Amino acid sequence: MRERVGNTFRDVDRRARRTPPADGPGSRIEQVLDMSRDAFVETDADGVLTQWNRQSEVLFGWSRDEVLGRPITEFLIPERHHGAVLDELESAGRSGLAPARTRPRRLDLLHREGYEVQVLGSAYIVGTADDLRIGGFLYDQDEDKAAEEALAHAYLYDSLTGLPNRTLFTYRLAYALAKGKSAPGCVAVLVLDLDRFKAINDGLGHEVGDELLVAVAGRLEAADGTAEVIARLSGDEFLVLFDGDEAEKDAVDYARRVLQALRAPIAAGDGEVFITASIGVACTSARVSEATPLLSNADAAMYQAKKRGGGTVEVFGEVMRMRVLDRMHTEHSLHRALERRELRLFYQPVVEIHGARAVGVEALLRWEHPEQGLVAPNRFIPVAEESGLIIPIGAWVLHEACRQLCMWRADRFGGPRGAVEVNLSARQIDDPEIISTVARILDDTGLPPANLTLEITESALMNDAASALRVLQALKDLGVTLAIDDFGTGYSSLSHLQRFPLDILKIDKSFVDELGVDRGGAEIVAAVVKLAHALGLQVIAEGVETERQLEALVRLDCDFAQGYLFSRPVPAHELVEKFPLPLGA
Ligand code: C2E
Ligand code: MG
Ligand code: MG
Repeated sequence: MRERVGNTFRDVDRRARRTPPADGPGSRIEQVLDMSRDAFVETDADGVLTQWNRQSEVLFGWSRDEVLGRPITEFLIPERHHGAVLDELESAGRSGLAPARTRPRRLDLLHREGYEVQVLGSAYIVGTADDLRIGGFLYDQDEDKAAEEALAHAYLYDSLTGLPNRTLFTYRLAYALAKGKSAPGCVAVLVLDLDRFKAINDGLGHEVGDELLVAVAGRLEAADGTAEVIARLSGDEFLVLFDGDEAEKDAVDYARRVLQALRAPIAAGDGEVFITASIGVACTSARVSEATPLLSNADAAMYQAKKRGGGTVEVFGEVMRMRVLDRMHTEHSLHRALERRELRLFYQPVVEIHGARAVGVEALLRWEHPEQGLVAPNRFIPVAEESGLIIPIGAWVLHEACRQLCMWRADRFGGPRGAVEVNLSARQIDDPEIISTVARILDDTGLPPANLTLEITESALMNDAASALRVLQALKDLGVTLAIDDFGTGYSSLSHLQRFPLDILKIDKSFVDELGVDRGGAEIVAAVVKLAHALGLQVIAEGVETERQLEALVRLDCDFAQGYLFSRPVPAHELVEKFPLPLGA
């Protein structure tokens, strides 16, 4: 190393050229470096330039031939930085051999024309003690900014529709809320969810689904009058923000315009698609001034619109608030119900239609609420399904029902012998553990699988027919009996019915109600029984209340019946009292 004097090295001849190193001009390394999008600059321990690639020529205006072999302080480093650069070269020389790399930092370098170029770069040190090299890749900060902007765009906008995404919407909502802090009613949020989008997406393909989403986004923008932001949340869900004194009214007016705009068919794929949407609107109030509850109120309103069949708008209001509170309360206490052993099973006999001999029982869940008394399943099962609590509750039901039937079968004095029917909800069918849960419970309780019947409602089967088919087949392989419940209330396609490995079809009470009232009712039941028998299924009529209905069912060749005519659902011990002799097979 040469001795340093002030801000230069003493014996460096400023004009002197040196022989380029082995990795110099024309070498393979140089060719590779020329392909880099970044400028590449390298010096030896004295700061004399050894590499200068094509991008360096572009960025700083000097050709390679002009600068190789010259100290960088002479043409690249502004004078005010000479001291710092020489300090660094010196310490690099001292630090010796360990290859090192610095963090990227900003540098001001000189262009041939005399102006300064701001670049980003990180330096590295490599080589041996007598052939030390200090180099760095440098890149233009302006280019970097463009990349940054592209990144920011991807971060804040939805790539499919070009609308703002959830992140940007969240920022804007937070800003609107902060701005209007003191005034209730000044920020409104609209949630829009397309109706039956999944069916379109699955049926016509994702590309058509994407086209549809883009078209919907276009109509949302075209219907705009007063919206602050129109964003796509995910999938087929969109969010729109309104602020100002009339926020709620603006949102509702906008919702009506959107529903109107969606009436016209949308060209997608090779044809046209008709789509409707469910819209929920919620507004800030004295109670609600934060984003999370505001959004969940809008969601609740949207679900209400869905429940009403879609294609409509609902505004979150007092009634809905009470409903949401009630639901939250139910969910909260349902969590405890399992631990506190407040759940009970009631049993209702299923009887043979000729001779009314009981062949089995359906297990029906009740909640013995500490304050409200016996609560019917319709009041809490939907909450259990939404919250996921149906998984542990359903497992408890299965276990308890199997255990109870085993007890009866071991009892010499009475109780059912045949099958116990247990209701499964759609959520349980979707549970990846369902097969192992059923298998484990059969194993634990020792109930022969054939004595367990699992009931699945028609609508649960049609939700996702393909995966339901797989689950049913696996359950069937365990040896259990399968029934389709509430038949006639959903929309099963007959081809599906044929493909599912079902054993029993339960005709919904609403059809039994019609028996003996008019001829049409009897004809529907007759047709269902014929269809079921043709598919090899046995038929249970649900909700039989009168002798007249029973007679009609006998005539129509139905196999089994269940209803208040025989018995209401009762606790296990009452069933034994009612049927003191062994029942069923
Ligand atoms: P479901 O499975 O269709 O059960 C039949 C329902 O009809 C029962 O109502 C039963 O009490 C009622 N019922 C039976 N015979 C008659 C009759 O002659 N007249 C009238 N009016 N009603 C009759 P429940 O016990 O209130 O259960 C309602 C629904 O709740 C059940 O319908 C089932 O879908 C669901 N459910 C009950 N227990 C469970 C369970 O453990 N798990 C799941 N996932 N769902 C259950
Ligand atoms: Mg049932
Ligand atoms: Mg039913």
